[in-house]
Amino acid sequence: MFSDRILRIKPSATLAMTSKAAELKRANKPVYNMSVGEPDFFTPENIQKAGINAIQKGYTKYTPGGGTFELKEAICKKLKRDNNLNFKTHEVVVSCGGKHSLYNACQVLFQKGDEVIIFKPYWVSFPDFVTVTGAQPVFVETNPSKQNEPDFEDLKNKINKNTKGIIINSPSNPTGGVWSDNAILQLLEIVKDRPDIWIFSDECYEQLTYDVSFKSIATFSPDLKNIITFQSCSKTYAMTGWRIGYIAGNEKLVQAIAKLQGQSTSCPNSIAQYAAIEALTGSQDRVLDMKNVFHKRRDLILSQLDAIPNVDCEKPNGAFYVFPDFRYYLNRLSPDGKMIKTSSDLSLYILDRTGVVTVAGDSFGAPNNIRLSYATSDDIIIEACNNIKAALLDLKN
Ligand code: PMP
Repeated sequence: MFSDRILRIKPSATLAMTSKAAELKRANKPVYNMSVGEPDFFTPENIQKAGINAIQKGYTKYTPGGGTFELKEAICKKLKRDNNLNFKTHEVVVSCGGKHSLYNACQVLFQKGDEVIIFKPYWVSFPDFVTVTGAQPVFVETNPSKQNEPDFEDLKNKINKNTKGIIINSPSNPTGGVWSDNAILQLLEIVKDRPDIWIFSDECYEQLTYDVSFKSIATFSPDLKNIITFQSCSKTYAMTGWRIGYIAGNEKLVQAIAKLQGQSTSCPNSIAQYAAIEALTGSQDRVLDMKNVFHKRRDLILSQLDAIPNVDCEKPNGAFYVFPDFRYYLNRLSPDGKMIKTSSDLSLYILDRTGVVTVAGDSFGAPNNIRLSYATSDDIIIEACNNIKAALLDLKN
């Protein structure tokens, strides 16, 4: 009944856990949601007002398929201001969220016979973006004790004549890892003679780095025409529901994406585009405020996890996730005699026993880990970690 295309992909594991949390809430059960992939803050007021203004002024019509000229101008200014990147409006295309930008770029560039390198652990959607095109994802190992930087030997071994793309996501979902300049330079050196390989840099967490500064990958090699920069208003401005993401890169690629978009969504939401201009060019004070809160929460959750015996957690330098290793607690029995074999079993056991919602590492290509988001209040972080600890200590050999 369905096309091969749709049968090749899986539902999003993170969205599945979000629905589970909503179900528990509806049943009036206590829920400690550590699965959220979005800031728990309101969209800043100046951006809200810009959205309201856009509605009242009648900016409620179709816009050009690739986004309004004014928003593209704002994006170019932002890329210069924050990332020291020089792009012109014809090198920018706006889509319905960063996810849509990534999806579109994969559709435009990849097909059957192509291989696309993805670093493990990966954001759940990357392999599906690739497989839906008919191309093959190829996974490369990373080093958890070094911000999940690539295993360069593995990377060199996996690149071959069919390699058509490499997807980089630093700061990373799910690990929070931020690659060093040296790691990026090493990667660019490996691919320097392969202009046919597209380098995707998913920078949607660019504003959320702690103790280290963020550098956009395209700044390392401004002449390389095959680097594509993906950014989004979602995480930086607490605008996940507005759905505005964008790409800066090769002009022909940008045109191809605008064409695809013109034949699919027509254009990104007009009201959200006007609000995004304010987000990108208005006061950036709230961005810093939110980052400071996340920084404190990261330190809080690390100290809470440190108090749980035999759970190893690296200190991530970015995003709002930690990705502890729970392997010590696998292959044990729950109090009601169920065998906890995988991180999915463990995540469900923790949910049923305590109401703490997490996302199992299985879906990120890391079967011993569980992702915890700290985009939530200090109280929830503390209670959730206490509950996880109690649930783990109830497991039996
Ligand atoms: N990339 C990564 C790594 C993400 O975690 C997300 C959101 N979870 C996105 C892209 C897409 O975000 P949006 O579509 O809201 O811009």
